[in-house]
Amino acid sequence: MRSIDLASRSGAALKRAIQAKQLPSRVACASARSFSSTSSNNTGVLPPRYETLYNKYSEVRRVLGSQRLTLAEKILYSHLDNVEESLLSNTNGGRDIRGKANLKLKPDRVNMQDASAQMALLQFMTCNLPQPVIPASIHCDHLIVGSKGADEDLKAGIATNNEVFDFLESAGKKYGIDFWPPGAGIIHQTVLENYAVPGLMMLGTDSHSPNAGGLTTITIGVGGADAVEALVGAPWELKAPKILGVRLTGKLNDWVSAKDVILHLTGRLTVRGGTGYIVEYFGPGLENFSLPAMATACNMGAEIGATTSIFPFTEASSRYLKATNREQADKDAKNFENFTKGTGQDSFFKFKADEGAQYDELIEIDLSKLEPHINGPFTPDLSIPLSEFKKTVQEQKWPEKLSAGLIGSCTNSSYEDMTRCESIVKAAEQAGIKPAADFYITPGSEGIRATLERDNTLQTFEKAGGIVLSNACGPCIGQWKRQDNIPKGTPNAILTSYNRNFRGRNDGNLETMNFLASPEIVTAMAYAGSTTFNPITDSLTTPDGKEFKFPAPKGLEGPETPFEAGREVFQVQSGSPNPNVEVAISPSSERLALLEPFEPFPDSDLSGLRVLVKVTGKCTTDTISAAGPWLKYKGHLPNISENTLNTAVNAATGEVNVAYDLDGSKHTIPDLAKQWKQRNQPWLVVAEHNYGEGSAREHAALQPRYLGARIIVTKSFARIHETNLKKQGVVPLTFANEQDYDLIDAGDEVATVGLYEMLKNGGQGEVSLRVTKKDTGKVVEIKTKHAVSKDQAGFILAGSALNLLAKGN
Ligand code: SF4
Repeated sequence: MRSIDLASRSGAALKRAIQAKQLPSRVACASARSFSSTSSNNTGVLPPRYETLYNKYSEVRRVLGSQRLTLAEKILYSHLDNVEESLLSNTNGGRDIRGKANLKLKPDRVNMQDASAQMALLQFMTCNLPQPVIPASIHCDHLIVGSKGADEDLKAGIATNNEVFDFLESAGKKYGIDFWPPGAGIIHQTVLENYAVPGLMMLGTDSHSPNAGGLTTITIGVGGADAVEALVGAPWELKAPKILGVRLTGKLNDWVSAKDVILHLTGRLTVRGGTGYIVEYFGPGLENFSLPAMATACNMGAEIGATTSIFPFTEASSRYLKATNREQADKDAKNFENFTKGTGQDSFFKFKADEGAQYDELIEIDLSKLEPHINGPFTPDLSIPLSEFKKTVQEQKWPEKLSAGLIGSCTNSSYEDMTRCESIVKAAEQAGIKPAADFYITPGSEGIRATLERDNTLQTFEKAGGIVLSNACGPCIGQWKRQDNIPKGTPNAILTSYNRNFRGRNDGNLETMNFLASPEIVTAMAYAGSTTFNPITDSLTTPDGKEFKFPAPKGLEGPETPFEAGREVFQVQSGSPNPNVEVAISPSSERLALLEPFEPFPDSDLSGLRVLVKVTGKCTTDTISAAGPWLKYKGHLPNISENTLNTAVNAATGEVNVAYDLDGSKHTIPDLAKQWKQRNQPWLVVAEHNYGEGSAREHAALQPRYLGARIIVTKSFARIHETNLKKQGVVPLTFANEQDYDLIDAGDEVATVGLYEMLKNGGQGEVSLRVTKKDTGKVVEIKTKHAVSKDQAGFILAGSALNLLAKGN
């Protein structure tokens, strides 16, 4: 198939290309379920997607000869639009692909959660196409507040967000996109249960999309603009990741789980250690891993900044496919592994690395020596072994009272997780002990909820006083109305089995310390109500004065009979596109607004920019575009822009959300940005390391762009955010010399040197900043680095990637 050059194609040509292949595409992959619905055998017939995968794989083998490949490489490269072009350009004849090649990929499907789907769909709508060329799904999970329990919360959530859900549902119907209604489940759990099958490549508009790597897929978290590229059939570009191998040996001890593997790894690698890598797990230690355990490890790979994570196809994967009523998918995957059109070992596609495949980095973990870990507060890479946690709490003077324990979420709500917790709750119940801290349970999907209800697990939690929240993100994304009414600003500790713990993420209180742990550790510590309790060594006292020690948790990998589908009202709405459906957006809406295109880059370098704010410390996507109450404005760019950088720390003064105008007047950061927008004063932000880490939140790029940002200059960027900036026409630059951060301050005037030429040359060339100091008028020149590719130069020149996609439609 001919490659489509995103930077140079015209929109009309793209539209024609899409229309020409629309029907075959939809027939070939109408949904991931049908991906596996046709049986295959080793006599020459494969389901359509495996046939495509096999053919691409054969090309990869032809191009790379006898090169040994990791599992991630096999799946990733077998999704290239043009195998030869991607693997042989700038790669020393295919020998140095990793970190060098620009891969132009054709993903199999796109999954979108409700908060990010709004902007993705608004962008897709501006392309004026009748339907996406690949299957896609929308999951209503981020907008439901967790408070009193599933039924009440869901009703309230639907009442508050009806307008958005109506918009998403109508867009789903119009464009033939699967729609999972509120209460159906959290995107990653739903994808794992329904869409993930070995060998797929998926994009998800959420940073924890790699969860599906547990089922041997390559699934990458992206912003809405990337999703739109895939939806319209344009190749999606990725710098070929390096591969970090994690070899697991030994066997997990009683109190230890897969969550502890990733908590430990996050501590070793830090939030930046996985940047530019795919994490590939292998080794004899996998033998005892359930499928959801593998998904948990992949899910939290986002916390080390990894592109994605992946596990091989194991017996546990096979059992999971059967338990989720996908026997055919299991048979197809096995038959595919035995299928060949050629001769020799390499003519078979095996869902594991080739013998002798090389990893760029290799980490060995002996599971037998691993102990439970607790990570936090405020960053997921502050990893503390359980045995040292009490001492650390006391040394750091963190709160010893545990206010709440929260289990579940997309990270840890498997049958195994929940039944292990159930065993702890039952033991405590028998001893007459109730949780001393508030105890919340979030099932990941209606399927898992209904199955846990059928098997009496949820009733056990409720009997103990646990609050079962709706099948939605809730407290994990700031949608948490706490029952204990702890005032904002009060330091307090909570333990969660979630994946992320930046300040303010759970309840909007910047002083809530969220410590991440496995669900079984969270549950046991919730009974103690103490952060210094070690359930492995310490005891509680029963009401009749006896000493009680928790037995080691025990659970079942999966239910003895397959998963329940759950209630009808939470099932997927799926169908062919209906052009007669009108997408529901009220012109007076405060939640949804059609998009206006950004202006193109001028025909010259930029000049007269001013530094709006110089930020110090962590600047995550939460800092740039806060979640919680702001999630409701995700579809309304002007309204959500009111939160831009509102938790950023001013480097000059240490104040949060404070910026100073050129006349010295004091403002909030978004207020000053708005004023500068009105005055046509373009601006830039200066920041430190890993700018934009955290959720794949394209609003963190869209909002500054909407308010007038042209450049962000930092010591380093988080990968997804850097890409998102370029897609929205903002230029991300890094200091060539890190210490030059000290040479530039808020209010300084900035002109670019070489930027326009670099963009016109398709990303080739150097860029520096000419900085005129606000206070002295002195001029300093600061050298910068950039990672702008040819396609991305095209986006920036056009004003945004979307401008390029929409041109001519
Ligand atoms: Fe939802 Fe939290 Fe999972 Fe994100 S990490 S999808 S917010 S449950």
